[in-house]
Amino acid sequence: MDTEQFKALLLQQQKSLMDVLESGKSAAGIVKLDQTSVGRLSRMDAMQSQAMLQEASKRRQQSLRDISKALARIDSGDYGFCEECGEQIAKKRLQINPASRYCIECSSNLETA
Ligand SMILES: [Zn+2]
Repeated sequence: MDTEQFKALLLQQQKSLMDVLESGKSAAGIVKLDQTSVGRLSRMDAMQSQAMLQEASKRRQQSLRDISKALARIDSGDYGFCEECGEQIAKKRLQINPASRYCIECSSNLETA
């Protein structure tokens, strides 16, 4: 896989994340409507599912930020290099997550730090 392919992959992921975020907004509206009209959901349940939705949406927004950073790095020619040590990130790793910012070593160091 070359940079152009990673770029295509990133753009694809970016688009589908944006679609999910958009549909998530309308879905949240539907939940609210159900609550008032049916009133079956307890307050606790409603709060819990709201928190889960917020958590999921936070993660998606974080992924979107990572993706746009990766796209910016493609444009500047820095794509595929670890932000921490500057080493090249393994292609296999980028194939799994094209928005990876660190090599395997640094990312495990950062996670345990
Ligand atoms: Zn590194």
